[in-house]
Amino acid sequence: MYLIPAQIGDAIDQIETPALVIDLDAFDRNVERMAAFGRQSGMRIRPHAKTHKCPSIARRQMSAGAVGQCCQKVGEAEALVRGGIQDVLVTNEIIGTQKLRRLASLASEAAIGLCFDAREQVEAASQAAVDIGVTLDALVEIDVGMQRCGVPPGPAARELALRIAEAPGLAFRGLQAYHGEAQHLPTFEEREAAIARAAEAVRATRETLDRAGLACSVVSGAGTGTFRLESASGLWDELQVGSYAFMDTEYARIGAQGGGPYAEFEHSLFVLATVMSVPSAEFAVVDAGLKSYSCEKGVPWVHHREDVSVVGVSDEHGKLRVGPLANRLRLGDRVMLIPSHCDPTVNLHDWYVGIRNEKVELLWPISARGASI
Ligand SMILES: *Cc1c(COP(=O)(O)O)cnc(C)c1O
Repeated sequence: MYLIPAQIGDAIDQIETPALVIDLDAFDRNVERMAAFGRQSGMRIRPHAKTHKCPSIARRQMSAGAVGQCCQKVGEAEALVRGGIQDVLVTNEIIGTQKLRRLASLASEAAIGLCFDAREQVEAASQAAVDIGVTLDALVEIDVGMQRCGVPPGPAARELALRIAEAPGLAFRGLQAYHGEAQHLPTFEEREAAIARAAEAVRATRETLDRAGLACSVVSGAGTGTFRLESASGLWDELQVGSYAFMDTEYARIGAQGGGPYAEFEHSLFVLATVMSVPSAEFAVVDAGLKSYSCEKGVPWVHHREDVSVVGVSDEHGKLRVGPLANRLRLGDRVMLIPSHCDPTVNLHDWYVGIRNEKVELLWPISARGASI
């Protein structure tokens, strides 16, 4: 297990493929760009670790000014706290005594929060926190338009917040208000309209909470596609951006404000693959398929080779079509594939190979890979 794809100091040609590679210059610029946005706007940046699943990356984001990390799973929270992260918000509902006790156990070492959209969850989490002797931060998740988890905005949120405020072992902190579907809407105008509706839901809920005397110290939400909109509304104060650090083709395909593709962040995440068969002048086959990158959002793009496209994907093969004017691909050539969806791609690998100036600078273990319990 855990075959290591490279050694520090290796040239790119020496990296064993398929490998998950980070272009560290692009990655650092992405992290800094978001951090700078946080400083300028006054928004708290709490990056989502479901994207990177890696405490080393979390620590980089924290050194750039992030207030903490988000995650979806108790196992991810455990990996983050083990990796030295002091403030973790599970942006999800957690069901089951065992899981809640594991989460509560982390709260003696770090600030731990989680989301709620039902009374039963409140009772169970309160019990676990009391049993372990800790306090868990609690956010009420409201449905701001994506129709996934969350109570309706307004009175239902207030009722749940009141329950939490009365529950021993829980501290009511505010609202989880994330509109996942808005992130990849194709045009800026559609995203703007979706977040405007979400903002109304947040506004109405905040007013209801105020009238009930419930202090709402945080409204958390947003992603890479909409974070400027939530920030501009004045209703959110914390951004849960994840993909911005890596980008992927799903984000590269949405439109920017004023037209053109969304290019605020750079592609920094790649699957490095090797040509292992050249059956004809038109086709080449690489050693990376579905087990190296996810394809539910489309096949990967070939970095810096617009003349080459991925036309077929199976478990361990990627079939490339080479354009008529192209430099032919030869056996042993390397290509950098840009994943269509960064988060599930990362979850297929054990290591990030960080490269800079054509050399391997670092190896980061993806310690929360597969941590779905
Ligand atoms: C995925 C997710 C995010 C981050 O979204 P990106 O598009 O990757 O920036 C934020 N909050 C929640 C609840 C999420 O599930």
